[in-house]
Amino acid sequence: MPDKPKIALYWCASCGGCDEAVVDLAEGVLTLTDAVDIAFWPVALDGKRSDVENLADGGLLATLINGAVRNSEQEEMAHLLRAKSQYIIAFGACAHLGGIPGLANLYSSQDILSAAFNDSPTTEPDAVLPRTNTLDEMHALGLPEFRETVKTLDQVIAVDYYIPGCPPSRKVVSEALRALVSGELPDRGTVLAPNIALCEECPRKESKPEKLSLESLHRTYGIEIDPEKCLLAQGIVCLGMGTRAGCDAACIRGNMPCTGCFGPSDRVRDQGAKLLSALASSLSATETEAIDLALAELPDEVGTFYRYSLPGSLLQRALVHSK
Ligand code: SF4
Ligand code: SF4
Ligand code: SF4
Repeated sequence: MPDKPKIALYWCASCGGCDEAVVDLAEGVLTLTDAVDIAFWPVALDGKRSDVENLADGGLLATLINGAVRNSEQEEMAHLLRAKSQYIIAFGACAHLGGIPGLANLYSSQDILSAAFNDSPTTEPDAVLPRTNTLDEMHALGLPEFRETVKTLDQVIAVDYYIPGCPPSRKVVSEALRALVSGELPDRGTVLAPNIALCEECPRKESKPEKLSLESLHRTYGIEIDPEKCLLAQGIVCLGMGTRAGCDAACIRGNMPCTGCFGPSDRVRDQGAKLLSALASSLSATETEAIDLALAELPDEVGTFYRYSLPGSLLQRALVHSK
C-alpha cells in the first residue's frame, strides 16, 4: 500500500482553541487519519523539531499553522515548515489576521514586559526581565526573542490558504480538510469559507431593515434582547455586515452579537474600517458631535472593530500608550 501523505499542525502565539477545533472534529479526526499521517503536532503528539528538519523539502502535503507570530522561535518554525510543506494553511483568526494576540500591537514590547514583570502588584519593581541569552559558569540558556510587533502568518511566510474563525467552525474545517485530501483545492490565496457577509446566512436577516437609523447603541447586558430580531436593529453592535459567513451564525443563534472573528470577505481590505464606517452610517445622527456621542457607548473602539484583525489591517499597529 502506498504511503499516506503527511501533514503537520503547529501553533504559534495561540490560545490552544484552534487545536481544540481539530479535536472537536470528533470522528472526523479518524476520517482525516484514514487519509493522511499526522507527522508533527506538538500539542497532541510527542515530536521534536528534528523530526521536521529530517523531512525532505515538500515532504509534507500541508501544514496547518494556528496562532499569530510573536517571537523568533515561531518565525523559525514557520520558515522550516514552509520549506517542508507543499501547502501552508493559516488556521484560525490569529494566523489569518493576527487575532486577539494582535491587540498587543497597541503597546510596545517593553511596556508588555514591564506590565508582566515589573508593574503588577505581585512582582518586585526591579525584577529581572526575560533575557534572550543567559550565561553563567556552568550553563548557557536561550529564550526566543520577543519581537516588537505581532504578525500574521502571511507577513512572515507565504501562505497558500486560510481557514478563518476564532476558532474555525467544524463545518469550515471539515470542508477544508476534505478539499485538501481530495486535491480539490481552489486557487492559492483563497479563504476557505463562503465569500459573503454573515448577515446573508443569519437566521434573523429578515428582520434587519434595509436602512438602519439607530438613535443609540447598547451593551448586551443593558437591554432585554429580543431573541428573534436582528441584533443590530436593536442597537447592539453586531458585526455581521462586515464579517465573512461560514460559522452558521453561531453567536447569533446563542443570542449574542457577532464580534467579527471570520474576518472580512474578499471585497473588504480593512475589516475594522469597514465595520466602523458601516456602523456610523447606521446611526440616525448626522452631526459629528452626535455620532461621537453614540459611539461613546462603545467601551473600546479598537477592541470592537479590530478585535481579530489589527496586525493584518492597514494600521498593523498603533501605540496607545508608551512609557
Ligand atoms: S484563532 Fe481564536 S481559538 Fe484560534 S488560537 Fe487564536 S484566539 Fe485561540
Ligand atoms: S446584523 Fe447581526 S443579527 Fe442582524 S442580520 Fe446581521 S448578523 Fe444577523
Ligand atoms: S457569529 Fe461572528 S464572532 Fe461568532 S463565530 Fe460567527 S463570525 Fe465569529
